[in-house]
Amino acid sequence: MSHPKRPPGGFPVVGVVGGGQLARMMHGPAVELGIQLSVLAEDELAAAALAVPSAPVGDHRDVDALREFARHCDVVTFDHEHVPQSVLETLEDEGVVLHPPRAALRFAQDKLAMRQRLTELGIACPRWVRAGSAAEVSAFGDAVGWPVVAKTPRGGYDGKGVAVIRSAEDVADWLDRVGQPGPVADGILLEEKVDFVRELAVLVARSPSGQAAAWPVVETVQADGICTDVLAPAPDLDPELAAIVTEAALRIAGELGVTGVLAVETFEVRDEDGRAAYRVNELAMRPHNSGHWSMDGAVTGQFEQHLRAVLDLPLGEPTARAPWTVMANVLGGDYEQLYPAYRHIMARDPGAKVHVYGKQVRPGRKVGHVNVSADDLDAARARARHAADYLRGVVTE
Ligand code: ADP
Repeated sequence: MSHPKRPPGGFPVVGVVGGGQLARMMHGPAVELGIQLSVLAEDELAAAALAVPSAPVGDHRDVDALREFARHCDVVTFDHEHVPQSVLETLEDEGVVLHPPRAALRFAQDKLAMRQRLTELGIACPRWVRAGSAAEVSAFGDAVGWPVVAKTPRGGYDGKGVAVIRSAEDVADWLDRVGQPGPVADGILLEEKVDFVRELAVLVARSPSGQAAAWPVVETVQADGICTDVLAPAPDLDPELAAIVTEAALRIAGELGVTGVLAVETFEVRDEDGRAAYRVNELAMRPHNSGHWSMDGAVTGQFEQHLRAVLDLPLGEPTARAPWTVMANVLGGDYEQLYPAYRHIMARDPGAKVHVYGKQVRPGRKVGHVNVSADDLDAARARARHAADYLRGVVTE
């Protein structure tokens, strides 16, 4: 293991489990603040391992690897939510400081536990049930109306592990396909299919001493279960709904004991009398794709804020720097070379901020993003999308 060198000046070492782009993007603000990052990476070519000098390779499910990693860190945080609860428990029992703590992370790891807890808190969710048999699937679909949305409680991302189903038989087929065959009796999450107007995300950060800060509510534009663009702030959002969802996210962070950044993904809906309302879709307890705009578009970006929060430092101001910031994801296309596109996109739009993750291009994989801030939303959106599309090779001029 390549252990971190302790910086002079009393600065801490923050350990990040997982070497993806989120860990990588914490590195910039860490360097600026003089904080040492250390990343437990999947392999030497992981996105963060290419950027962070201390990036020992280890398996996030291996308690010995995590223990050894944590020994060199003051606090440990996460790039993903896949460290098993049993491993987290052992580490906490041995005195490792985890942010977010194990008890909070559970609600980002298990969608059934999340639904249960949010419902207890009176947070608006889609109608849902834990289904353990074909009869329960049929009963739920008949009660809320078909089709319904089925989710594996654990391990899903970017829409994998989520299916729209029209009958109880569909569930069995889908479980086979996602590689989680076996009895529905293990329990899956079934939700009503929400007829939403659009998807909104609220990002907040909370520190162990309880300080919290919220960024403006954003709209996330999705295609095939993958976020393509984020509009900050969400255009034409009813200010009352913005306040309500922000309050809900801050409450979730406090009640669940989240530390660091919490992303609350929601659906905007219209209730019976036509008023704007929300339903929570899911939670992520780490910096999140819906917050990448803040790196260039807010006074304090989410990666800096996450570091401040996990170190229990006072939080930075989350307000926007410009009327609009648009983030366009660069999803891998057929073209593997990204760097040759820089000359064109940088010459064409000197105001566009390009972020690339050092990942091998694969079709549909998030390999970077572009932020554009402007006074005009449509202009910002067109510019960000163009740069992202040029990078992935789907436009050529
Ligand atoms: P993942 O954990 O894979 O990101 P999500 O739970 O966020 O999965 O679901 C992926 C997408 O599926 C959402 O962004 C949304 O577009 C759609 N979706 C999820 N749940 C529902 C629902 N109950 N009703 C309608 N659409 C849904």
